[in-house]
Amino acid sequence: MRFFFRYLFAIGLVVLPLAAWGQADVKIKTTHVTGPVYMLEGNGGNIGVSAGDDGLLMIDSQYANMVEKIQPALDDLGTDLKYLLNTHFHGDHTGGNVVFGAKSTVVAHDNVLTRLKNGSFKKPERKDGLPEETFATEKRIQFNGDTIKLVHFPNGHTDGDSIIFFENLNVVHMGDHFFAGRFPFVDLASGGNAVQYAANVEKAIGMMNDDVKIIPGHGPLSTLDDLKEFHAMLTETTEIVRKAKAEGKEPKEIARSDAFKKWESWGDGFVSTQRWISILHSSI
Ligand SMILES: [Zn+2]
Repeated sequence: MRFFFRYLFAIGLVVLPLAAWGQADVKIKTTHVTGPVYMLEGNGGNIGVSAGDDGLLMIDSQYANMVEKIQPALDDLGTDLKYLLNTHFHGDHTGGNVVFGAKSTVVAHDNVLTRLKNGSFKKPERKDGLPEETFATEKRIQFNGDTIKLVHFPNGHTDGDSIIFFENLNVVHMGDHFFAGRFPFVDLASGGNAVQYAANVEKAIGMMNDDVKIIPGHGPLSTLDDLKEFHAMLTETTEIVRKAKAEGKEPKEIARSDAFKKWESWGDGFVSTQRWISILHSSI
């Protein structure tokens, strides 16, 4: 037992400073998407920004400890934050709500409010970061000369996800319905399902034009071809696991076969190949 605590202490000595150092090292990278729209990459889900005559609208807010880095990047684009849209409730997309939500109107699907209220935003001092305008299926906001449409896609990544369409500018923020070039995380414990996730991505693709610019939840600014490749991976890997599961194979056995060789690099991110197979196995 004493050895166990000493072991934990040793891990703490190494891991905690590393984590702090990692945070200090992160820089916000701003990419111009088109017209008034920008993409901000830092630590956590990608942020979308519309900056223009109506002020600022931001999509997602990364972690709370990224706020002091995100703020100057926003200041470079404009002033007067009017709206903060959340694609879903996960902490790497809503942590910064405590600060940015307090000075703007937070908009999200009904279930984002429910999950935040009962989870990480339970403390009274965090209530300013909660969504104030929620919706069940769809919501439109007129901003900076465009119609920004939030569309709920049920039970894919979680039970409260929206994909956000800039209708005139032909830009889409996919939230975590797109991990560019990586296996996606699907939150099975929060109403997500990998089979429905693929169906949602297919439906979203059907709503886009050829030259659309796509902001993924994680990964670089992408094209429709990149999203189609992601969707092809989803359907092909689903079929492999569906067949193997029908033959009674467990995730570990499937991972040992050569079936996933083609997507080797896709497992380098947050979700390894083994984990993706387990997510599919549980979703089917
Ligand atoms: Zn997420």
